[in-house]
Amino acid sequence: MARRKFVVGNWKMHGLHDQLPEIGAIAKAAADAPGIDTALCVPFTLIERAATVAGHMPIGAQDVHAAQKGAHTGCISAAMVREAGARLTLVGHSERRADQHETSHDAWAKAVAAHEAGLDVILCVGETEAEHDAGRAERVVQAQIEKSVPDLAQAGWFTLAYEPRWAIGTGRTPQPEDIAAMHAIARAKLRRMIGEQADAIRILYGGSVTGANAGDILSMDDVDGALVGGASLTADKFVPIIEAAS
Ligand code: PEP
Repeated sequence: MARRKFVVGNWKMHGLHDQLPEIGAIAKAAADAPGIDTALCVPFTLIERAATVAGHMPIGAQDVHAAQKGAHTGCISAAMVREAGARLTLVGHSERRADQHETSHDAWAKAVAAHEAGLDVILCVGETEAEHDAGRAERVVQAQIEKSVPDLAQAGWFTLAYEPRWAIGTGRTPQPEDIAAMHAIARAKLRRMIGEQADAIRILYGGSVTGANAGDILSMDDVDGALVGGASLTADKFVPIIEAAS
């Protein structure tokens, strides 16, 4: 099944207002690449102003709370980021799983809450280095998908990102055949859970994608795009990735 490529930047805890011109330049490159989808997930504090400079390029959050409102000091709901101008959110990013001890069940609840609030969702899964070295990557990723993908997941609002944790921010990437194999395993798991609708869902690869390796990674079977951290922070690094996907 033909799926449009999807390139998503994740600015993590980077970005003050003086970086808004980078978002403008990235949005311009996205507009010049109409054959693919591009989005940028920014810190909460940048969402509103990023959405005004991004034109048609969707701006996303990097996390939302699983509750729509309530006594959760310091937290941000899906409805709040939507009101600020976000059209999508990441959930289950490995840095949140590691730093905030989020579980796959948390990721599931956040995905459901985000969808209910009208946001698209990119759900992240991926094994640690120890799990990889122990030959457990397949089982770990299948279990994460089992526990965190909502039954009602559909391509219209749901995207999966496979991000081996040991490849995030390290400059290391898996062998091409390993990326292809893990994407095939993830899709087969999705198929078992939600049937043939799984074939329309995009599965992104994330972990040290750069302008230099994007062409090879994005040309692999079952790799429907990229989730990009460090190389999305400036237009000069991110635009070549957008172009490689086009
Ligand atoms: C990420 O933040 O999801 C990511 C893949 O980061 P990096 O591209 O820097 O490895």
